[in-house]
Amino acid sequence: MSASERAIAAAEAHSAHNYHPLPVVIASAEGAWMTDVEGRRYLDMLAGYSALNFGHGNRRLLDAARAQLERVTLTSRAFHHDRFADFCTRLAELCGMEMVLPMNTGAEAVETAVKTARKWGYRVKGVPDNLAKIVVAADNFHGRTTTVISFSTDPEARADYGPYTPGFEIVPYGDLTAMDAAVTAENTVAVLLEPIQGEAGVLVPPPGYLAGVRRLTSERNVLFIADEIQSGLGRTGRTFACEHEGVVPDVYLLGKALGGGVVPVSAVVSSREVLGVFRPGEHGSTFGGNPLACAVALEVIAMLRTGEYQQRATELGEHLHHELGLLAGTDAVRAVRGRGLWAGVDIAPALGTGRQISERLLDRGVLVKDTHGSTIRIAPPLVISKEDLDWGLDQLRAVLSA
Ligand code: PLP
Repeated sequence: MSASERAIAAAEAHSAHNYHPLPVVIASAEGAWMTDVEGRRYLDMLAGYSALNFGHGNRRLLDAARAQLERVTLTSRAFHHDRFADFCTRLAELCGMEMVLPMNTGAEAVETAVKTARKWGYRVKGVPDNLAKIVVAADNFHGRTTTVISFSTDPEARADYGPYTPGFEIVPYGDLTAMDAAVTAENTVAVLLEPIQGEAGVLVPPPGYLAGVRRLTSERNVLFIADEIQSGLGRTGRTFACEHEGVVPDVYLLGKALGGGVVPVSAVVSSREVLGVFRPGEHGSTFGGNPLACAVALEVIAMLRTGEYQQRATELGEHLHHELGLLAGTDAVRAVRGRGLWAGVDIAPALGTGRQISERLLDRGVLVKDTHGSTIRIAPPLVISKEDLDWGLDQLRAVLSA
């Protein structure tokens, strides 16, 4: 047995099988490249589902983390610490908002947003007790907690987890007429949407959709919550995917890249009117907003403020979509979608499942992951070089023409 095979067998024996990873065991990584326990190198074209926008082992992020590790890593929110105010101020500034509620994972940020919207509905909008409604889109992915999967339309994500949390209405994504009908002025407190649906296969809504949702929600005093956990922080070529439509939501949900792939950091970012609804004891997290998380996230925010990463995502994204566009409509590729350095590629089922295509790419030294049957997601770290991106695309072409 090789070292990889031993590690995989041990993981199979002693970990719950809630994932089906590709058969590769990573030992180290730098930039856009990962190395396995046998010393083979792979180009990372997934970037931890966009948590690694700034690449593996990013010097600035590691230096910030190291310096903080030596000072203080956790206080809990029982006390103040000296990185917290800076983190909240800078993140609010980056978002053009006023207040931040820090958590750790994406799902926690979504849960927090659901609680925030309901509390805002009862305390500010005047919705009668227990009648708050939140409108979401079909095929959404917002995380894995019991409430979050209660409004999922993916049977795999929901089966055997009931009873489910009530209070959600699901409408087709991209359909403004359905949204119009669902967003009732009386009891609707929020619309929760991914500006681009990531797990659904990088689905970009029709032009005008997000702006239409913004208009409807503003007219009816309903919060527009943009889940930018995967789409935000540079991936699409802008700091937020909503910017492509000139839309500013009431609430941003951030996660993944906010912790630079070093520590889990998530946040709900909004106005004083919205996040001002919380009083001490009404919500919290032991680790949310801890000093190490704040130190790393502060560096992430500083990097995003330069605009350099958004620029790279735009330029490399144009190249990626040009190259993938040449494949779209061929016998091998049904469709390509996406924005910036982010693409969903629907492979013709005759060539194999998405899993099989991912395994063939793995054999050629490229790491991607399939979603929903025969769709491959491409989302390399934004620091990838054009040469490496081209090499990765060469491997994809080779797999598709084999
Ligand atoms: N929201 C979106 C849009 C996501 O893509 C994800 C994760 O893929 C989540 C929420 C959940 O984040 P986490 O896995 O950190 O809980």
